[in-house]
Amino acid sequence: MNLIIVFMITYAERFGLEHYLFRFATVPDLQHSYFNGFGYYTHAFNWYMFYWLAFTTVVAVLTIGLWQRLVEIKIKARFRSMGLALKQHIWVISPALLIWIFCAAFIYRQTNFIGKYKNKQALLNWRLAYEQKYKSLANLAQPVIKAIKTNVDLYPAEGRYTVNGTYMLKNESNEPIYKIWVSVDPAVRSFSVNIVGIKKTARDEFFNQQFLELKTPLQPGGEMLMKFSVEIIRNGFTPFDTENSVVNNGTYIELEKFVPQLGYCYHIEIKDRQERKKAGLPEIASKPPFTRAYQLIDFETTISTDIDQQVVTVGELQHSWNINNRKYFKYKTAAPINFMFALSSAKYVLKKEKHKGVDLSIYYQPGQEYNLKSMFQALKDALDYGNAHFAKYPAKQLTIAEIPQYKGAATAYPGLIFSTENINFLGNYSEKGTINQSYAITAHETAHQWWANILTPADGAGYAMLTESLAKYTEDVLIEKNFGKMYLRKYMSYDNELYFLNRNYNKEELPLAKTLDQPYVYYQKGGLMMYAIKERMGGQQFNGALHQLIKEHRYPKPKATAADLVSILLKQAQPKDRNFINDCFNDVVTYKTGVKVLNCNLLKSGKCQVDVLVDAERLSDSSRQLPDLEIDLACFNALEMDWKSATKPIYFQKVHIRKHKTRLTIIVNQKPKTIAIDPYRYLLDTDRSDNVFIVK
Ligand SMILES: [Zn+2]
Repeated sequence: MNLIIVFMITYAERFGLEHYLFRFATVPDLQHSYFNGFGYYTHAFNWYMFYWLAFTTVVAVLTIGLWQRLVEIKIKARFRSMGLALKQHIWVISPALLIWIFCAAFIYRQTNFIGKYKNKQALLNWRLAYEQKYKSLANLAQPVIKAIKTNVDLYPAEGRYTVNGTYMLKNESNEPIYKIWVSVDPAVRSFSVNIVGIKKTARDEFFNQQFLELKTPLQPGGEMLMKFSVEIIRNGFTPFDTENSVVNNGTYIELEKFVPQLGYCYHIEIKDRQERKKAGLPEIASKPPFTRAYQLIDFETTISTDIDQQVVTVGELQHSWNINNRKYFKYKTAAPINFMFALSSAKYVLKKEKHKGVDLSIYYQPGQEYNLKSMFQALKDALDYGNAHFAKYPAKQLTIAEIPQYKGAATAYPGLIFSTENINFLGNYSEKGTINQSYAITAHETAHQWWANILTPADGAGYAMLTESLAKYTEDVLIEKNFGKMYLRKYMSYDNELYFLNRNYNKEELPLAKTLDQPYVYYQKGGLMMYAIKERMGGQQFNGALHQLIKEHRYPKPKATAADLVSILLKQAQPKDRNFINDCFNDVVTYKTGVKVLNCNLLKSGKCQVDVLVDAERLSDSSRQLPDLEIDLACFNALEMDWKSATKPIYFQKVHIRKHKTRLTIIVNQKPKTIAIDPYRYLLDTDRSDNVFIVK
């Protein structure tokens, strides 16, 4: 019997019982971080341990009863014996039972009542029902948020925070607005909103929605204030959310997701076609109306936290002060930013440097100084490069704040980068030849200051080409500048391999300019393609096009799409490069290239004449064409396995390949040991084994 109980409880999740109260000795996963040890769940973990200890005590006593007379097989007798055991061990079983019930009640209250816990199915149903109920109102005209002021109070030890704030709202539509529709995330425990001059208000507690009917409608162009407050409890009994974590040390909240939103929330819609069909919804989730207009905000906030912690968020730190054993920080933006304002709070050490008028700061954990030098270097290099080639960096500060390791490497906010501890801060790149990920990540995230913040693309297909592919490109050229081309080779080899690896698992690959949800396309392939086009057009030309893209599409001009960049590049490129550019963006093309040496003759002058054969094939599902490649051809006086970061070719030329087989004769100053095509590996070559030829 006990076996059956234990079996049922252990596998409860498979039967739809997700709540940890029903899953024997199962507790939420603990994740370790140097910030706060096992952090978020430790408190809940202890309660669950108590709960299961009490439960096992009760089961143990019952088992003793059932096992007492092994020879007796009759059920009736066994139960009689169990009753006896209960009587005998009453002093053990009754407190255990009491503790068990008390723990169950406490956990249930924390999880379901305070934490508003929903299991997967309930959350899915909630989201489907939201769409069913509110989709018909999606076109209700709503004002836009122009400015936001908040007071945020963090209580790290309690796993709780509150936000009190005001929005300045503006009617940017052509019609009067009669009703303000406020929606808050299900993670919000309680909220309130208020506008002066309300006729009527209706609230839907189940969906966290509120409608405020205005006495006098907000006319086109008109502005008004809205006050709001929210309270959020993240005390370890609800599933951990990396974007909304309040922990003893290392709190990180992407606050823009937990303050009130206006109008219909498209992101709540479920994408799963099966589930949508079952619920009687159209098979494909709807998309928010396409807009090319930037919606930027002025942002001002005062955030309080524990006295021994520091808070980092977007904007310039105006000042900080102490009241009632709490520490306060006031931040304000100097120029409008996108609606994004994550914050972190921890026991930080701050290191500052100044670079050409920009304050560089890194907030990190004491003792984790290892990579600060390369991070500062990357910040400076990326700022210099962006300023010189893309557009002037708009803020006076650029900050990195370390956060616990939950997922990913880093996230870029306007003027601020949140970076997780493992790779950037704890990675060891001192060994010669290892790729300095800390430098690379910092350069990449700084690049997002242009490729996401200054230039925010319009939503939709190709979005990530203008953010991730361009950030990858910037990262690549900075690595090349700082460490050399042979070092970059390692980096690009890795991207190349990752691209082909992922390609094998994904059937239909979308062209780069239409990329949607294939990260290996917009990260790996995107970075390589941008680099390849730069090599083809020349750095000046390519960066010039990027500069123009920003000029034509930064606020207050209309947002850019991937097609905008493609059209600028095609316009500026020489006719000979247009096919290749088209292949990179609008088609899915790979190559099969190889090189062979046919003859190698020493000349009287001591130089060497080499006859080379280059094989090239262009592979594409959609079109059959001859290759149109400009390919690097290089000679080295070392074998491939001996190539080091400092190795330079003794001969280098870009050759234009427009046939399957191309014969070339080159004169090299000395006899080379190897001849290679695409030695830096930025072309998408399906077979690299024949790219380096050893000269005998
Ligand atoms: Zn990125």
